[in-house]
Amino acid sequence: MGAIDNLPPLREVIARHGLAAKKALGQNFLLDLNLTAKIARQAGDLSRCDVLEVGPGPGGLTRGLLAEGARKVLAIEKDPRCLPALEEIAAAFPGRLEVVQGDALEIDPLERLTPPIRVVANLPYNVGTELLVRWLTPEVWPPFWESLTLMFQREVAERIVAQPGSKAYGRLAILAQWRAEARIVMSLPPGAFTPPPKVSSAVVHLTALPAPRHPADPKVLSRVVAAAFNQRRKMLRAALRGLAPDIEDRLAAAGLKPTDRAEQVPLEGFCALARELQAAK
Ligand code: SAM
Repeated sequence: MGAIDNLPPLREVIARHGLAAKKALGQNFLLDLNLTAKIARQAGDLSRCDVLEVGPGPGGLTRGLLAEGARKVLAIEKDPRCLPALEEIAAAFPGRLEVVQGDALEIDPLERLTPPIRVVANLPYNVGTELLVRWLTPEVWPPFWESLTLMFQREVAERIVAQPGSKAYGRLAILAQWRAEARIVMSLPPGAFTPPPKVSSAVVHLTALPAPRHPADPKVLSRVVAAAFNQRRKMLRAALRGLAPDIEDRLAAAGLKPTDRAEQVPLEGFCALARELQAAK
């Protein structure tokens, strides 16, 4: 029997510690340990990695990560009610689980982790998206993480992996795919969670690339993509007019048609335009 088998079932843990789900904290818990083990496995071989888990709640996914062999898990949880349940798990896996209570948006986890680092989380959707954007836009690349394995609402997951020509294609797809490989690796119906959310969820696995797929300055690229998708129904020459007086020439130099719309432009096209705009400065 492994350490995980000596821990009580999560339903019992929730009842004993009074962990009624709070909507304000986006609490939809995973109680099926087969399912949490499966999610943990999507993060790959964890035996040589420290894992940052954000929002462990009662610890279903935490148990999965430790049982799958994570060298160490640092779990950041905002809700102090969850701490006793998490401390029980820490006691079952001596020296491998560190729990920090606080807001993941305000805590710097890096001083407590040793590379290589992987991130795994089932977070409320707004916090998850904000953290994803931060993790994808560090000062230097490669980032502190090797991979991110994150649960999102299905609709957000589709925006992360979207390809040109689809409604879901936009800033998030470009941000994610420029310097990472992003895939949807699992789909979960509302009933997989307690209480069930209104919509389906999906797990996205992102692997950091050693360098961007195409060269571009991150700030210029971000400005171009923001301007293009803020007016996604307009042609590029109109949507991007504010970026350069000779935008039509810049678009042509980047191999783009001024009459195209943002939705049709592949990642490579946005990077080419960012380079053109920078060279013209
Ligand atoms: N990982 C657990 C699971 O899969 O059962 C819980 C998932 S629940 C969707 C989200 C968790 O994130 C909750 O435990 C909630 O208290 C926590 N949380 C919400 N906002 C947070 C924040 N800003 N920082 C850290 N944890 C947060």
